[in-house]
Amino acid sequence: MSVMESRAGRLAKVRDSARDAGVDSLVITHLPNIYYLTGFAGTAGALFVSPESCRLIVDSRYVTAARGLASALPDGFVSVEPVARSYDETIADLVLRDGRREIGIEATHLSVARFNALSALGRRSTGDGPGTADDGFRLVPTERIVERVRMVKDAAEIAIFREAAGRLSAIARRLAEMAAPGRTEKEVADRIEAALRQAGFSRPAFDTIVASGPNSALPHASPTDRVLQPGDPTVLDFGGVYSGYCVDLTRTVQLGGISGEAGRLFAAVAEAQKAALAAVRPGVRPSEVDAAARAVLERQGLGEAFGHGTGHGLGLEIHEDPRVGRALPNLPDDPLEAGVVITIEPGAYVPGLGGVRIEDDVLVTADGCEVLTDVPTFL
Ligand code: ZN
Ligand code: ZN
Repeated sequence: MSVMESRAGRLAKVRDSARDAGVDSLVITHLPNIYYLTGFAGTAGALFVSPESCRLIVDSRYVTAARGLASALPDGFVSVEPVARSYDETIADLVLRDGRREIGIEATHLSVARFNALSALGRRSTGDGPGTADDGFRLVPTERIVERVRMVKDAAEIAIFREAAGRLSAIARRLAEMAAPGRTEKEVADRIEAALRQAGFSRPAFDTIVASGPNSALPHASPTDRVLQPGDPTVLDFGGVYSGYCVDLTRTVQLGGISGEAGRLFAAVAEAQKAALAAVRPGVRPSEVDAAARAVLERQGLGEAFGHGTGHGLGLEIHEDPRVGRALPNLPDDPLEAGVVITIEPGAYVPGLGGVRIEDDVLVTADGCEVLTDVPTFL
């Protein structure tokens, strides 16, 4: 499938969901969503999608690039609208010109200030006197319209994930050598990030975590000047962006071999990860995958030590749908589908003693899952 065919398919799905959400058009302001639908990669922009048209609104910095992008796509797929005075006024003008009345916005991404400003523009009167929404348009908050489409990866995206996960795994197999005693956490993080660039990643997907000894008990520690000591459990969590897509991996190494109380954590977390991986298949809710990992750690008396979720979706963003955690009211927990890519990353953290996290990236397949990353559990 060509990039163009996948973009057309994505846009068709977004239009269907917008219609199901009861809106006659959609203003997309979240940049990764705009990139996903059009390939536009600027630092500002908006996309106005109606049943008949798809208009990319960009300011003067990006007009030339956006027009080049649009001309490479089939006629009419996307047209470029330069910003006149401000993004919001340009959006409002387009909406009013088209006579659209119910405009979906991305509630997760549009600030209250912009919501209010756009709403005020929608009340603009067509005649004398104060305007009302009856003359203009009304904003309707929508949730996850593009994100739900993004969650299921197509063949081209899956090919990128396989390549990216292979490259990330090659770095991970060298972690024990990179995390040598005598180096500081910051030095080890620098080595990992240099390896990411050498391996062809455009940038780290997030700030690399190197958490040694007692610091390993902090799930999201930043690297410090602490010098790695023999016997330290050390959590190494890193990821890279490859062709726009994020991959993410964690291994915990214990310098000098796994032993002592940390050994119990290693065994429990490895078993929890195995249980979660065995639960992944289409039709299963992410919360059930989380429960599979959690049950193992609870049985070992480590329920309290596992304070985060079991995983998250991967894609153009490092954390995207689905969230693989406990079922919570008002949070989506839609059953997994083939094509979804998630991390499986249980952990256990005991203050004073240390922590262990093991993370791999998996693709949900028709009958289970394929582990995309390929690194021994213990290094
Ligand atoms: Zn990670
Ligand atoms: Zn992760």
